[in-house]
Amino acid sequence: MIQLIDVGKTYPGGVTALTGVSMSVAAGELVGVVGPSGSGKSTMLHLLGALDRPSAGTIHIDGHDVMTLPDRALSALRATTIGFVFQQFHLAPGVSALDNVADGLLYAGVRRRERRRRATLALHRVGLRHRAHHRPHELSGGERQRVAIARAVVGDPAVLLADEPTGNLDSVASAGVLDLLRGLHAAGTTVMIITHDQGIAAGLPRRLTMRDGRLGES
Ligand code: ADP
Repeated sequence: MIQLIDVGKTYPGGVTALTGVSMSVAAGELVGVVGPSGSGKSTMLHLLGALDRPSAGTIHIDGHDVMTLPDRALSALRATTIGFVFQQFHLAPGVSALDNVADGLLYAGVRRRERRRRATLALHRVGLRHRAHHRPHELSGGERQRVAIARAVVGDPAVLLADEPTGNLDSVASAGVLDLLRGLHAAGTTVMIITHDQGIAAGLPRRLTMRDGRLGES
């Protein structure tokens, strides 16, 4: 599903965030990426999610070479294949849970009515159908993250990338979000979870460790 060969990333200004990273993730895996702050985890996630291109090396996502794919094709790959979940939820304020989730299909060329129908199903999947008409400020942190997960999976992506998904949650809400991610994995989605929480990482079937922009397996 995802393959990195000798990938490097240097930002404009000269910060080298990744060096010689090689790894592959098969369809259906659940993988944790652990490492201290500044070790390059988010940079790798951006590359895995085709949000950015590497400075060196090769990345294949679902059979496509990210380096040579034109921008439009890269956006299309992102829209159809990858779902993102972030620590800060990134929900639109003042917009209902239903429409926040439905907006996850904006770039997939789906009509509004169908977007809302699928969003209702996705909210059901995360156990929040009864909160469909609540706006983000009327939801708890755990509920907001569930809405964000519903938005990430409404288009049925093959890959779900989560960057510190429990970073802003208390332990009860964290456990709920992790259960949800596990459930999506059990249903066939490839899931990668970035975390600095060793407890969370320890519970995942596979762990990759980042340190100073280099990757190891533990
Ligand atoms: P982590 O997610 O493990 O905290 P990051 O991937 O965010 O690590 O950062 C790795 C390194 O790259 C850090 O030194 C960081 O300051 C740098 N970095 C990250 N994003 C950018 C950027 N957009 N421009 C310049 N440097 C960046």
